[in-house]
Amino acid sequence: MITEFTTAKDLHKIDPVFGQASFDNHEQIVFCHDKDTGLKAIIGVHNTVLGPALGGTRMWKYANEWEALNDVLRLSRGMTYKSAISGLNLGGGKAVIIGDAKTDKTPEMMLAFGRFIDSLSGKYITAEDVGTTTPDMDLIRTVTKNVTGISEANGGSGNPSPVTAYGVYMGMKAAAKYKFGSDNLSGKKVLVQGTGHVGETLVKHLSEEGATITVSDISQSRMEEVAKKYGATIFEGDDLYTADVDIYAPCALGATINDDTVYRIQAQVIAGAANNQLANEQVHGKILRERGIAYAPDFLINAGGIINVYGEIVNYGKEEAMKRTENIYNTTLEIFDLADSKNLTTLQAAMAIAEKRIEDRKKENGK
Ligand code: NAD
Repeated sequence: MITEFTTAKDLHKIDPVFGQASFDNHEQIVFCHDKDTGLKAIIGVHNTVLGPALGGTRMWKYANEWEALNDVLRLSRGMTYKSAISGLNLGGGKAVIIGDAKTDKTPEMMLAFGRFIDSLSGKYITAEDVGTTTPDMDLIRTVTKNVTGISEANGGSGNPSPVTAYGVYMGMKAAAKYKFGSDNLSGKKVLVQGTGHVGETLVKHLSEEGATITVSDISQSRMEEVAKKYGATIFEGDDLYTADVDIYAPCALGATINDDTVYRIQAQVIAGAANNQLANEQVHGKILRERGIAYAPDFLINAGGIINVYGEIVNYGKEEAMKRTENIYNTTLEIFDLADSKNLTTLQAAMAIAEKRIEDRKKENGK
C-alpha cells in the first residue's frame, strides 16, 4: 500500500538511507520482512575487507524504523573497528529486529530471521546481543551455519560475558597503569554502573583485587544482590557522575559521556563495557583528553565477547580466548602512548590503528 507520505511529491522529505547521519560507507544494508511471523529486521554489513561481517542481533522496541536503521548502521560500524583492533579476521556487521523481545519474539520469527542470514551466504554472521539469547542462536543454527554464540552443549563458545568482563578488567588495569603509574587496583575507588552479566563479573575481579567498589543499577534487586555478594557499596547520592571515585566503569548503556555529564565526571579513568560510551566521539573524546581523564576506548576493551565467539570460526577454546583477551592490556597501553605521541584522543588513536589494518589488507588484496 502506498501511503500519503510516500507519494512522489513527498519523497524528498524522507532522508535517503545513504544520507543517514550514521551511514559510513556501509557495503550492504538488508531489510528483512516476513509477513507470517511479523519479522521486521535490518542487517547492516559495514565492511568485509578483513573477513565476514560478524556482529550480534539486537531485538529492541525501536520508536520507529529510522531509529532501528541508525542503530544498525552505528553498531555495525563499531564492529568493524572492534574486530580490526583486536586482530581478528572479521569484518563489521550487526542486525536489529524491531520488536519487544519479551512479548514479540517467537521461535518461528527467529527461524525466519535465520533464513535471511543464510541467504547472505556467509557475508554476515550473527551472534547474540541485547534481546537475543544463546538458545535463540542454537535455534538459528538449525537453518544456517552462519551463527555464533552457540551453547557449549551444542559445541559453541557459550556465554561471552565473562570473557568480555575479563577484557574490560585488563583494559582498566592498563588505563590505571597509564594514569596512576601502577596497574594495582587494590584500594582504588571504582564505580561500576550496571551490574548485569558483564558488570557483575567485573565487580568480582575488582573485589578479588581489593578495590573499593560502588555499584549502581536501575534494578534495585540486581544492585543489592551484587553488592551483597562482593562487598560493594550501593551508590546513594543524586549525581553518579560527581561521585568521588578514581575509576568510572560504564557497563549499562551507551552515551553516558555526553554534554550533560562530561564536565561533571570526577573519575580520572574511564573503562567500561558499554558500547558507544561517548555521545559524540570527537567532541567528548577531546574534552576528556583536555581534562586529563584517561579514557580506555570501549570497542577495544569490550572485545572479549567477539574474541570468544571468533573461536567458533577458527576453532579455539575458552583458554585461548582468555589468553587473547588478556592482550587487551598491552593494546590499551599502546593506544595511550600513540594518543600522547600524536596528540590524538585515545578513541582516534584506536581507530587509526584499526583503519591502518584494514587499509594494509586492502593493499595485500590488490585493491
Ligand atoms: P545486561 O543487560 O546483562 O546488563 C545491563 C545492566 O545495566 C542491567 O542490570 C540493567 O538493569 C542496567 N542498567 C540499564 N540502564 C541503566 C542505567 N541507566 N543505570 C544503571 N544501570 C542500568 O548487559 P551486559 O551483557 O552486562 O552488557 C552491558 C553493556 O556492555 C551493554 O552496553 C552491552 O552492549 C555491552 N557489551 C556486552 C558484551 C557482552 O559480552 N555481554 C560485549 C560487548 C559489549
